[in-house]
Amino acid sequence: MTLDDATAPTCTVCHSHLWDTEIAAGRYACYRCEDRGADQLHAIRGAFKRLDTLEGLTKPQNGVCGPTGTREAPIPARLAVLAQTGPGGVVAQLQAGIEDSWRRALGWKAGPTRGLGDIDGATTFLINNLPWACEKYPEIAHDLEAITRIHNTLTSLETGERGPRKFTAYCDTTDCTGQLRITLWTSHATCPTCGTPRDKNDLAGLATEYDAAAA
Ligand SMILES: [Zn+2]
Ligand SMILES: [Zn+2]
Repeated sequence: MTLDDATAPTCTVCHSHLWDTEIAAGRYACYRCEDRGADQLHAIRGAFKRLDTLEGLTKPQNGVCGPTGTREAPIPARLAVLAQTGPGGVVAQLQAGIEDSWRRALGWKAGPTRGLGDIDGATTFLINNLPWACEKYPEIAHDLEAITRIHNTLTSLETGERGPRKFTAYCDTTDCTGQLRITLWTSHATCPTCGTPRDKNDLAGLATEYDAAAA
């Protein structure tokens, strides 16, 4: 290792070497990490709104349980959503955990406490000031990690809420008419008729009910 390699400035988030322009700007985080952070904030905003709507649709009204039906999430899922959309949820985490510190570092006065559902305000502040934070804020790695965690939590909640959609794939073993019920995320399945085990690659190659519908 040359002295240059050892001392070359790296991104405090992903630890890759910074480009000359990034070094010249004195950045703490590289442009790629900044872009990913902005993408995640946009995704957090979208996911939050969809989950918040779901909670709104399913919460009990006038003491009676709301409309039952396929849109009603099971109780544990509703509580998990509420933990993110309610008090101490995502908006509070973004404001108290990140925005307040950025305001202090910028020498701005603290903003008014955001309402529970003010995901637009919370994410807009962070998106607008992310370029500054990546360039000038020494703790940006910590905050980008927090944003990634929130993003992952909301994403898994959303996929969990909907449940992966199952569909039928047709076994292609000669003379077998077996049908496999799988999802896009199924990694292994066994044909119930001929017992042939399939991995993800095999499954991707099988004809499905969608092919039949298209034919
Ligand atoms: Zn980086
Ligand atoms: Zn089969």
